[in-house]
Amino acid sequence: MSSPNPDVRVTLSSGADQVFPTLTPEQVARVAVHGRVRPVRSGEILQSAGQQAESFFVVAAGSIEFVRQSGDGEEIIAVQRPGQFTGETNMLSGRQALVTLRVGESGEVIDVKRDDLLALVQTDSELSDIFMRAFILRRVELISHGFGDAVLIGSNFCQATLRVKEFLTRNGHPYTFVDLDRDSGVQDLLDRFGVGEGDVPVLICRQKVVLRNPSNLEIADCLGFNEAIDQARLRDILIIGAGPAGLAAAVYGASEGLDVLVLESEAPGGQAGSSSKIENYLGFPTGISGQELAARALTQAEKFGTELMIAKGARRLSCERRPYAIEIDDGSRVPARTVIIATGARYRKLRVENLERFEGAGVYYGATPIESQLCRGEEVVVVGGGNSAGQAAVFLAQTAQRVHVLVRATGLAESMSRYLIRRLETNPVIVLRPQTEIVALEGVNHLERVSWRDNETGAVETHDIRHIFSMTGAVPSTSWLADCVALDEDGFIKTGPDLSKEDLATAHWPLARPPHLLETSLPAVFAVGDVRRGNVKRVASAVGEGSIAITFVHEVLHE
Ligand SMILES: Cc1cc2nc3c(=O)[nH]c(=O)nc-3n(C[C@H](O)[C@H](O)[C@H](O)COP(=O)(O)OP(=O)(O)OC[C@H]3O[C@@H](n4cnc5c(N)ncnc54)[C@H](O)[C@@H]3O)c2cc1C
Repeated sequence: MSSPNPDVRVTLSSGADQVFPTLTPEQVARVAVHGRVRPVRSGEILQSAGQQAESFFVVAAGSIEFVRQSGDGEEIIAVQRPGQFTGETNMLSGRQALVTLRVGESGEVIDVKRDDLLALVQTDSELSDIFMRAFILRRVELISHGFGDAVLIGSNFCQATLRVKEFLTRNGHPYTFVDLDRDSGVQDLLDRFGVGEGDVPVLICRQKVVLRNPSNLEIADCLGFNEAIDQARLRDILIIGAGPAGLAAAVYGASEGLDVLVLESEAPGGQAGSSSKIENYLGFPTGISGQELAARALTQAEKFGTELMIAKGARRLSCERRPYAIEIDDGSRVPARTVIIATGARYRKLRVENLERFEGAGVYYGATPIESQLCRGEEVVVVGGGNSAGQAAVFLAQTAQRVHVLVRATGLAESMSRYLIRRLETNPVIVLRPQTEIVALEGVNHLERVSWRDNETGAVETHDIRHIFSMTGAVPSTSWLADCVALDEDGFIKTGPDLSKEDLATAHWPLARPPHLLETSLPAVFAVGDVRRGNVKRVASAVGEGSIAITFVHEVLHE
């Protein structure tokens, strides 16, 4: 949608009134109570791109320009006039600003510090709605225009490039992608930076730092994802994992006044974040993508004051004494009064030779729009008989020429929801192949051929197929817990009534009371979602458990 508003200098996908709303004088007065009115002069920089977003400004008189710096100079994206305000989602997370704020016409602004803004959005629901909507829509616009502080140079046929793309996308960070396979001039650019073939992808971060095939942690550090967080502070709850269970616990914990920090080794959303469309989650009759659900949940959690550390995985639980501490990937320790383990599960890998060689180069574990673009018009294979495989097949069938669904069982009735089975059966693009499994993968730099065996007849077929989606169930992410909590034989965490007398005796359970529902064999440490034994592997149950755990956290904190 193009904007007729001369103060908006880019094409917007939402209405300008929603992206850049104007507050009424009465609403401006309510904001003013939380800030300080101060004069500003034309040309004054209120905030530079790359600096932590510390203040939120409402224009009282004059104007503020949103300025984007690029290699070629600068561009004014929008101008805010009296009653309008600055900010986007990084105001909540405290991350670095992506645009510079410069005074256009001299006048006055209401300067509201970030903490005061957080207090305001928690108490004034009308202003909260206006700010939240504008912040989220502005972030969406930044993403759609690639107006970020990151330029990614890589190839869609390179596993590491896909990893970085996914990391930035799932963290909702805007970036510009330069495709090595399409842009012939880009080689000069790489030569200028002295970048060899093995260094791909290259991430140019904040127009200054050049990262060669960076790890997720290096990207998070360079883009300042965790800068605003004091990880040494003792918090009421430390939540490990930002899937649906962890995010729900964060929303309920923070909204009930608890001090919450979430550690996430990759990106918010967990397994649900890799789902193209979740159709059975209450309240979303037309479905919602996992990515959108995660982004909304994260904004909600941050609105209530939750802090989230990205690309910092828990490596060890230090459980010898209280307060407990979690050792994280960079070697530091984060203390906590209570811990909620929400580390979910990871995809099981196919047992086939060469698998690692093709992961990200033809073998994928999630079917999101990134992957579906890669196999547009081609034949693909989906392996698995569960709901995630069914969803992936239906989603990919929208763009692929043919989708072969391979299942080891004789049919789907045992493992897949009825509505998905019906969709698979009635979709002419989808071919169901029961009792079939992959036996070989071939290719040079990318998967080129797939062989599968019909286990009923023993016949092996080889097809020129370049894309496989592996959706064959998951194993719990609990190896980092060492001997701190009781696990079942498959590695899932036992909680509450699942803990036997023997489990509690082995764990030296020290309290007179039995463990609460969702509490592990270690007092004040809870487990929720897919990582928990007996959990129903659904978004709704993960969210339900995350919220219920908070009730018990309150009890434990008062013990
Ligand atoms: C493709 C797909 C489609 C699905 N579709 C549906 C659906 O339509 N409806 C439905 O109800 N369910 C669906 N599911 C199931 C649903 O997504 C899961 O049940 C749900 O995500 C479980 O949530 P969770 O928070 O317990 O764990 P997860 O979603 O697994 O999240 C765990 C998080 O913890 C992080 N983590 C792991 N280890 C560590 C560590 N050591 N330190 C820090 N962080 C760590 C992970 O990176 C991850 O972000 C689907 C699953 C998949 C894979």
